[in-house]
Amino acid sequence: MDYRALEGGREFVARLEHDRDWRGQIESFAAEENIEAGFFVGLGAVQDAEFYFYDQTDKEYYPASFDEPLEVASCVGNISLLDDEPFAHTHAVCSRADGTSLAGHLNSATVFAGELYVREFDATLRRAHDETTELDLWPF
Ligand code: ZN
Repeated sequence: MDYRALEGGREFVARLEHDRDWRGQIESFAAEENIEAGFFVGLGAVQDAEFYFYDQTDKEYYPASFDEPLEVASCVGNISLLDDEPFAHTHAVCSRADGTSLAGHLNSATVFAGELYVREFDATLRRAHDETTELDLWPF
């Protein structure tokens, strides 16, 4: 396991805007506040969601879209730079009215309502292509 120590930076709480994209808003906020490394948790509700599933054999992301209201029971993610822009790597567990859940790597979702806690780190984390997984990971 590769790792590095980071110093904590600012903390934020935020309310996501209705009808705007869940992940896009986090990235816009990170760009506005010059956050180059951070972690976040969130919860709320969305009007639809698109998850990406990474096929480990094909080494491709395949989308799965759900056009229905979902509760964001739990969302966790991190912020780092990808091609010099903030990228919010976002995972979420979303539930349906009957309590069953959908979960995964959240690409996009139209916010109904959402609340976030964001912890910035005084550091720059930059993603780079990893040959083994063909993902953009943190090189240390
Ligand atoms: Zn992911």
